[in-house]
Amino acid sequence: MWGEGRRWWRCMGGGLGVGLMVVWVVRVCLILTITLLMLLVSLLLKNRITLQEADASIPVQANVYAFKEALEASVGVSGDSGKSSVKVLPGCPSTPPHLVGEVKVEESVTVKEAEARHGASVKYGGFSWPEHCEARWSVAIIVPYRDREHQVGAFLNHMHPFLQRQQLNYSIYFVEQDGTELFNRARLLNVGFLESHKEGPWDCYAFHDVDMLPENDYHLYHCSAQPRHLAVATSNNKYRSSHGILYHTYYGGACLMGEGHIRKVNGWSNIYWGWGGEDDDMWRRITFADMAVWRYPAHFAKYKMIKHKRQIVNEDRYKILKRNTGRYPYDGLKNLNYTIKTVTRHPLYTHILVDIGSSSAQDDPTNKKFSGHNNKKT
Ligand code: UDP
Ligand code: MN
Repeated sequence: MWGEGRRWWRCMGGGLGVGLMVVWVVRVCLILTITLLMLLVSLLLKNRITLQEADASIPVQANVYAFKEALEASVGVSGDSGKSSVKVLPGCPSTPPHLVGEVKVEESVTVKEAEARHGASVKYGGFSWPEHCEARWSVAIIVPYRDREHQVGAFLNHMHPFLQRQQLNYSIYFVEQDGTELFNRARLLNVGFLESHKEGPWDCYAFHDVDMLPENDYHLYHCSAQPRHLAVATSNNKYRSSHGILYHTYYGGACLMGEGHIRKVNGWSNIYWGWGGEDDDMWRRITFADMAVWRYPAHFAKYKMIKHKRQIVNEDRYKILKRNTGRYPYDGLKNLNYTIKTVTRHPLYTHILVDIGSSSAQDDPTNKKFSGHNNKKT
């Protein structure tokens, strides 16, 4: 046995054979490592490219000065240079350079305090844009509102620096329901869309509750090719992600849509008075119009909801929700009636006070007239 081993050893050329084997093993290891690395890099790149390609299908705001001039003309705010139309700025980078990731939420800030902190970086009326580069996106932030004074300061204090770090052209509109009728969030969002639209051009519209504050600024408020649900994981839900299967059709809290998306679904329903249902209705509209709701991962799309009293719940919400989809073309932007009471420019936001009518007025198009419509896709 030993004799055989020695013979084999001699055949292999002794030490030379061992050296060759080591070289082979090292080579194989190297090749394996390089292949693994290449696989990893291609996987990472693939994810990035999918995201960018998808978003590239929406045109980028071509000329920020058109935007500024439109603002100057419509609301009388003046741009930073005065001769803005001749100054050419480089486009802002696709990844804003000053993002910080996790951001703390300060819940008790007054409007006065927020103004003192951010007044210098925001134009009267709540408009802002990056000073040193041309923003990639223009976004109107629309907040449905009534009787939540204690939350306004916290919202403004949080959102202005958040949006500024994302290098957006943006403005904040508070749309307040006049009177004491049950709250109708969806009507206010429709009004906010139509009224802010007049002051655009905006690439997209963020429909944003006053009490939902984003906790990570990597969660970009840029426009997407499909409607995007923003408030994916919220503190009031113990940060359980709405990617989960329990309530994956959740569309409340905050979402972002392009004008095309909004018009395609005829905006929000007008017939939900009191708490609940209108966001589920919008989810249905979106899927009925063959669009899809996008979401970013829960660890970015994380929101703190400031605590508050519960509104009066709309006990009819499921009934309305189940009514036929045939009402969508009639119930929304197209049949919305409202009267603007006042528009007031504050240092950090524009306040629109609006009369949106009452729940007793029979403007529910589902009542009898449309009850025979197609119900297949609900
Ligand atoms: N809201 C308001 N006043 C009200 C009721 C609602 O301003 O009396 C607005 C506010 O922006 C709020 C949003 O509508 O964040 C959604 O209502 P709520 O917070 O009651 O619903 P939740 O998401 O907490 O169930
Ligand atoms: Mn809330």
